[in-house]
Amino acid sequence: MELVSPVEPNFHLKANRTFTGLRRHAWVLVPIIAGGSLYYPPLGLGVAAIMVLIMVSGFFQGRYFCGNVCPHGSIFDRLSLPVSLNKKIPAFFRSPILKWGFFGFYMVMFVVRLGRVAPFWGDVEFLGRFGALMGNQYLVMPTIVGVSLSFLNPRTWCSFCPMGTTGQVMYKLGKALRLNRKTDRKVTISAPEQCHTCATCARVCPMQLEPYKNWNGENQFDNEVCIRCGTCVEHCPADLLSLATAHEAKKLREATSLEGYEKRHAVSAQIERITQLRENVRELTFKTNGNNGDHRSNGSAMGFEPGQFVLVKVGDDPEVFRAYSISSTDPNDPERLSVTVMNKPGGYGSHAVFGRFEEGQEVQLEGPMGRELVVDKQADKVLFIAGGIGITPFVPIAKDLVGDPGAVNSATLLYGVNKEHEFLYDDYFSELADQSEVFDYVKAVAFPDGDWTGHTGFVTAVLQEMDLRDYKIYMCGPPPMVNAVMKTLKQMQAEGRGTSDEFVYYETAS
Ligand SMILES: Cc1cc2nc3c(=O)[nH]c(=O)nc-3n(C[C@H](O)[C@H](O)[C@H](O)COP(=O)(O)OP(=O)(O)OC[C@H]3O[C@@H](n4cnc5c(N)ncnc54)[C@H](O)[C@@H]3O)c2cc1C
Ligand code: SF4
Ligand code: SF4
Repeated sequence: MELVSPVEPNFHLKANRTFTGLRRHAWVLVPIIAGGSLYYPPLGLGVAAIMVLIMVSGFFQGRYFCGNVCPHGSIFDRLSLPVSLNKKIPAFFRSPILKWGFFGFYMVMFVVRLGRVAPFWGDVEFLGRFGALMGNQYLVMPTIVGVSLSFLNPRTWCSFCPMGTTGQVMYKLGKALRLNRKTDRKVTISAPEQCHTCATCARVCPMQLEPYKNWNGENQFDNEVCIRCGTCVEHCPADLLSLATAHEAKKLREATSLEGYEKRHAVSAQIERITQLRENVRELTFKTNGNNGDHRSNGSAMGFEPGQFVLVKVGDDPEVFRAYSISSTDPNDPERLSVTVMNKPGGYGSHAVFGRFEEGQEVQLEGPMGRELVVDKQADKVLFIAGGIGITPFVPIAKDLVGDPGAVNSATLLYGVNKEHEFLYDDYFSELADQSEVFDYVKAVAFPDGDWTGHTGFVTAVLQEMDLRDYKIYMCGPPPMVNAVMKTLKQMQAEGRGTSDEFVYYETAS
């Protein structure tokens, strides 16, 4: 069976973009205003209200309206997205010539048409005629043209929408007058050093912008086309993004610790060995080749602490990396490191690892990174909770603890999978447990097939049988497992047999 499709996955993702009730439902205003004004023209006056809102919010917050309030934006993100091809927006539609030319044309047409209804000012007919003018414009432009273009990409229209450009013009004015610094919330990264360069922010961006490549000196994405929709913020897997003012960005910068990221550097490496662990899981062993000439590179080896992860380049144009926990069974070999990757059908990185990577091939690595799963060896008792592919960081961690007589007094690995054949490194952990007085290995299978005699159910069921007081807990697994465990830990805390929140560390591997 083919592990990956020969077709490269689409770079742009159909990720959820509607996080508020307003964004989900604002689209109903379009048929009411655009359609309704054909029968009752004063309804078209709603467009005038929208224009005023765009101008006022544009002055203070740039194109915030487009990403959070606009009824057409709601159509594009809620109704068009599921059926859209979601392709790259053609350069023509994003060109400044089209955008500013169309803006000028729209404004001239608007003034000319306004001139036609102006003689009715003060007359009872004025509101009807003005409403019809606005409603008509709303129907033809964003509704008919915008929705038609949305089948190519939902937000194609927004690249040259004259109303959006009006918001941008007002924003320029606010910036020039320095009156919007306290209200101007831009996409902000807590620390670029922690960025996985995974490009998820660019892949989910409705406007197809690339925040991760364009941070300014204040760690902000200073782009006037950004509609402040927060989609990148919601989907960043490293949870590094927020919408913040320049002042908030500064505070965030000062409060962010770079511990665990200070040794990050770039090296080139050769894929020395690919070991198929299961049909959809393979272990890649890299031999580092030295400084790759990158200005961030400071040496050949990548010394890491067990529990850290590394970035592997999976695409050149655009440059995209994927984060994988270091799963080396020999943490003391400075020139070799391994990662263990599960194939995600349709995944961008999976397509590279399972479709293109072969032994002998050169790849770029960056790391080591991360601190969450680096174990405090001074702790008395530690519990590791792993789900599925989340077992990987515990491979070097367990060996390191077992080989260090000065480390913790008790370490338990609780490993949960759906089916018994899904356990990875099972013999390895069993052998470590046999050799060691301090290391215990507990397995749980959620839906066993055959004559499984161990724990049946999720890891949370096993946790319920434990007393976790005085434990430090390190966890890695898919988000549903992490969320379920956190809930169970809270409940156990309330019952007086849990550990405190500050002793729970986790990373999600999904
Ligand atoms: C610190 C860390 C350590 C990790 N360690 C490991 C490890 O050891 N082994 C391992 O296999 N993985 C690990 N991961 C996960 C890994 O980095 C990748 O995220 C995972 O392999 C999937 O990448 P991909 O490029 O194949 O899939 P992607 O292209 O990222 O997509 C995966 C699937 O989800 C969908 N999708 C992705 N993002 C979204 C979104 N925002 N909205 C909607 N749909 C979306 C895609 O369509 C696709 O079907 C780790 C992640 C982190 C953050
Ligand atoms: S950069 Fe982020 S906030 Fe701005 S438009 Fe793109 S997804 Fe929305
Ligand atoms: S989504 Fe990925 S590339 Fe973008 S900021 Fe977050 S970690 Fe970095």
